Amino acid sequence: MSDTLRPLISAARIRGRVAELARQISDDHRAASLTLLIVLKGATVFAADLMRRISVPFVIDFVRASSYGKAMRSSGAVVIEDEARLDIAGHHVIVVEDIVDSGLTISTLVAALRKLGPASLDVCALLHKHVDGAKPVDIRYKGFDIPNEFVVGYGMDYAERYRHLPGVYRLTL
Ligand code: 5GP
Repeated sequence: MSDTLRPLISAARIRGRVAELARQISDDHRAASLTLLIVLKGATVFAADLMRRISVPFVIDFVRASSYGKAMRSSGAVVIEDEARLDIAGHHVIVVEDIVDSGLTISTLVAALRKLGPASLDVCALLHKHVDGAKPVDIRYKGFDIPNEFVVGYGMDYAERYRHLPGVYRLTL
């Protein structure tokens, strides 16, 4: 059986929306020191484009949080690696995530990061998937709302494949 990819969001639409998000983030952080905390690995392509459009100074760091492994459904167990090493006390932090699905990953991550004493903590997610029973998540900077389907491309994978695609695609197996 072969995978089927159907286009959902084109590279051009992503480019336009990323520029808008970067403008909004820049406007909101004119006077504040900004840290972008990029969630590995799926958010790296989004973050790389976003940071080239942000017009205020910032520093970056990375955090790994996962609940999927190699499956298309969340396992329900979120593992955050080594967050205690992050130097974010007193910083204005934006967590940059590829996709919020059940909301479990981002809620667990935000709760762990709050304990490290940031001055502010916001979420920037390229995609918000609409799933029944999902945890309510406050996404201050959101790219697109999408239906409840598994997506790949623009940094997002299925078993490490498809990250290179310039747009976002729905994947069916
Ligand atoms: P949540 O904890 O919100 O259910 O899942 C968040 C994480 O699961 C995302 O950061 C992403 O790594 C992964 N994920 C959720 N939905 C999808 C999807 O449709 N495609 C891909 N590639 N990953 C997803």
